[in-house]
Amino acid sequence: MKAAVLEAPAKDLVVDRVEIQEPRSGEVLVRLAASGVCHSDLHVIHGTQTTPLPIVLGHEGAGGVEAVGPNVTRVKVGDHVVLSWTPYCGQCAYCQSGHPNLCAVVYATMGNGTLFDGTSRLSRAGKPLYHYSFISSFAQYSVVPESGCVVIEPEIPLDKAALVGCAVMTGVGAAINTAHVHPGSAVAVIGAGGVGLKAIQGARLAGAASIIAVDVTPAKLALARTFGATHVVNAAEVNAVAAIRELTKGMGADYTFEAVGRPETMRQCWEMARPGGTVVMVGIAPKGSELALPANRIVREERRLVGSFYGSARPHIDMPMILNLYMAGKLMLEELVTHRFSLEQINEAVHTLETGEAIRPVIIYEL
Ligand SMILES: [Zn+2]
Ligand SMILES: [Zn+2]
Repeated sequence: MKAAVLEAPAKDLVVDRVEIQEPRSGEVLVRLAASGVCHSDLHVIHGTQTTPLPIVLGHEGAGGVEAVGPNVTRVKVGDHVVLSWTPYCGQCAYCQSGHPNLCAVVYATMGNGTLFDGTSRLSRAGKPLYHYSFISSFAQYSVVPESGCVVIEPEIPLDKAALVGCAVMTGVGAAINTAHVHPGSAVAVIGAGGVGLKAIQGARLAGAASIIAVDVTPAKLALARTFGATHVVNAAEVNAVAAIRELTKGMGADYTFEAVGRPETMRQCWEMARPGGTVVMVGIAPKGSELALPANRIVREERRLVGSFYGSARPHIDMPMILNLYMAGKLMLEELVTHRFSLEQINEAVHTLETGEAIRPVIIYEL
């Protein structure tokens, strides 16, 4: 098959012939229909996140099941699936307590670039290639764990469904699952990219009365309004923290979300919340970076600071729920797909995300 291979950080991806093995026990072979390009892919390409190399990136995919390995019971050939990058073991304390996004087995395996059994199904010229987040969707085919396949209705367009595999789940889930945004509340979201726009949509679905989008790009702020922001703040022009206070009668927001992944904006996110408010960190900060907070005020002002990983997803429950909302016209997906590319154009696609030109560039495999 054809796949895009990252050989070293800061280099272009190489679209090449790659061998893919048959699925083993508990694994599924999926023919990709579409794959979004996400900032997490960029972190690996830029070298700010390290993984074993060479690797096939991509972790926001959807497609059709081509073959199943032994002992696969939940999916069958022909099913349409969204790929979840937190497959689960089903046995650990996190899985058993309803937090499969924190699965201990996944956490221990993900960074190794393999599937659950510690081996790879991908190779090039006889040399192994690594998997990215159990998915590696910058390829025509992918072998994934059965628990990472979320079966969806066949009438749902796969290019939209692919985005539910990362950005949409992460953003909507942060508002609904992690923060439990309350009807009538005031919400601020820093970063109006793919994830931030979906946090805005999640807040709207939850019944927030005011949703303030904060970004430095006027085009993204305009888009944020169409996704449900009631107010926008351009942080390049004004003091964003002061602006949020002003828009919330001096109090600060009930819920604040950081969807950028920088310590400076995380600190702003904390300051934007009212005392007793909930501060939700969604963006992944560079490894090793630290966040300084005023120790005294953490106690006195009782802000809750929570991380939200993959929108606290229970993928097999939440992804079909999100797609039901999309099919019912209550959640916007196609507006996120701003650019479409073939696999051969992968570096162009990456570039449009790097420059901020694209909200979501999507690789379409039949293009
Ligand atoms: Zn992602
Ligand atoms: Zn587990």
